[in-house]
Amino acid sequence: MPGYNRHRLFNYIIFIAIVFFFYSENTVHPDIGRILAISLGFYIGTEFVTPDLDTNSTAYKRWGNLKILMLPYKWTFKHRQSSHNILYGAFVRILYISIIILAFYYIIFKSLSTGLDISPVYPIIFIFGIILANALHVLLDNIF
Ligand SMILES: [Zn+2]
Repeated sequence: MPGYNRHRLFNYIIFIAIVFFFYSENTVHPDIGRILAISLGFYIGTEFVTPDLDTNSTAYKRWGNLKILMLPYKWTFKHRQSSHNILYGAFVRILYISIIILAFYYIIFKSLSTGLDISPVYPIIFIFGIILANALHVLLDNIF
């Protein structure tokens, strides 16, 4: 089973290879906002919101004091089972963390209105970055 750093190295090498591929093929010309959105999503999907939140992993420990928020997730999902499904696992993690973020937002601001005026494209690209990072994690787990 690959360790945390092996997952990180694999993910970043593949991400850089994908970026160079699209850049060299000159097929897509994303604006800087979209590049930042997918890079941030990929970073978070590689470092924090990983399939290994289902166990006492380094990714789980990286949450620091906030790891207590991940306990229900860890208790619910057995290691390397449904949490390691290439699509379902990522969607459940994103949904789980979104509910926590929205709950904190609501507690603080007493409203769910963001007041932000950003295109919905950026959050979609950000989420795609998390899904891509999670998919590479599962892929590497299945190779080793
Ligand atoms: Zn794993």
